[in-house]
Amino acid sequence: MKVLVINCGSSSLKYQVLDMKNESVLVIGLIERIGIEGSVLKQERNGCDKYILETPMKTHKEAIGHVLKTIIDPVNGVLNSMDEIAAVGHRVVHAGEKYSGSVLINEDVMAALDECTELAPLHNPPNILGIRACQELMPNTPMVGVFDTAFHQTMPKEAYIYAIPYEYYEKYGVRRYGFHGTSHRFVSERAALLLGKSVQDTKVITCHLGNGASVAAIDGGKCMDTSMGFTPLEGLVMGTRSGDIDPAIISFIKEKEGLTVNEVTNILNKKSGVLGISGISSDFRDIEDAAKGGNERAQLALDVFALKVKSYIGAYLAELNGADAIVFTAGVGENGIEARMSICSNLEHIGIKMDAVRNKVRGKETEISAEDSAIKVFLIPTNEELVIARDTVEIVGKS
Ligand code: ADP
Repeated sequence: MKVLVINCGSSSLKYQVLDMKNESVLVIGLIERIGIEGSVLKQERNGCDKYILETPMKTHKEAIGHVLKTIIDPVNGVLNSMDEIAAVGHRVVHAGEKYSGSVLINEDVMAALDECTELAPLHNPPNILGIRACQELMPNTPMVGVFDTAFHQTMPKEAYIYAIPYEYYEKYGVRRYGFHGTSHRFVSERAALLLGKSVQDTKVITCHLGNGASVAAIDGGKCMDTSMGFTPLEGLVMGTRSGDIDPAIISFIKEKEGLTVNEVTNILNKKSGVLGISGISSDFRDIEDAAKGGNERAQLALDVFALKVKSYIGAYLAELNGADAIVFTAGVGENGIEARMSICSNLEHIGIKMDAVRNKVRGKETEISAEDSAIKVFLIPTNEELVIARDTVEIVGKS
């Protein structure tokens, strides 16, 4: 069974075709600048053959039309016809409280996702556009929605209710939802395998550290708490997002700088985080280089980032009453050798002891803690597309 996985952003679209007989990736592609001058499709086949198509793509439907044409192209494609695609799996950011797992997409699901647009105004509209475009171009192919929020729906109420008037939760759904759920689920299940335990008997703290970053506390395969909240702005210090701050700062800066609330919110989303502290970049590689060159604010950004991750790990160790493993994943988690070391430094007293030699590794599933570390530390590359494809096969198989 071959599955097309679509991850549709506002001006970009990532796709993969997987052969689920052996879970192999047949093709990986990315379209950038949808609706903007300079639209481009870049595709890699068998991990090497590169194909680039530069042509105007004004809408998501046009972009998906080019994806389908490219994957069945006799020269650059991997399929003989579109009929070979048994199902499409779509990444969708927000499903509110409606879905705690992946679902077969029908008009009720589309209506529910429309309702959630208010909660994720930047993310859900392009996700919905992507689904609609696929439905038009492949009307007889089943589609499955896999939601970033779904995995976190097991959080107990005390973990997701904000201490603000309760009526805002009841009236508007203001609560903590959490994101990156597909990634936290995947790496926590891999961690159980590496521990040689069943998921049900495992407690794991997963650190998804990319441009966006979040930590999750997972007990027996169920998410008990996570650092992102009502939006992906809460929690850790990120590439450009502030993470947790005193909410009083918003009105203070608004007054001092003569800005609107929306402008301040935009600054917290796009100009803060390690970019805001360092003034250099949101990319950890640039910041690490600058810090090595003696730039103090770059070093401070790295220190603030690491301390925040450490403090969430500590909090979640308390919430879970201990853990079997800590997992690092995503861009910084998989590649940031120094970041991982500094997050896990001086934690011997709570049972975390790193091995500096084992930790000198990038992008490979492996244990990076010392042999005698009571709590294991793993590097586990995430694979959200594989989870989406697996869920798609399971749900279409059942329907
Ligand atoms: P997202 O999917 O949230 O956009 P990724 O998971 O791809 O982000 O992570 C991107 C980030 O990973 C980059 O901004 C960069 O900071 C970090 N990163 C990538 N490679 C390295 C590396 N070799 N060393 C340190 N950080 C890295």
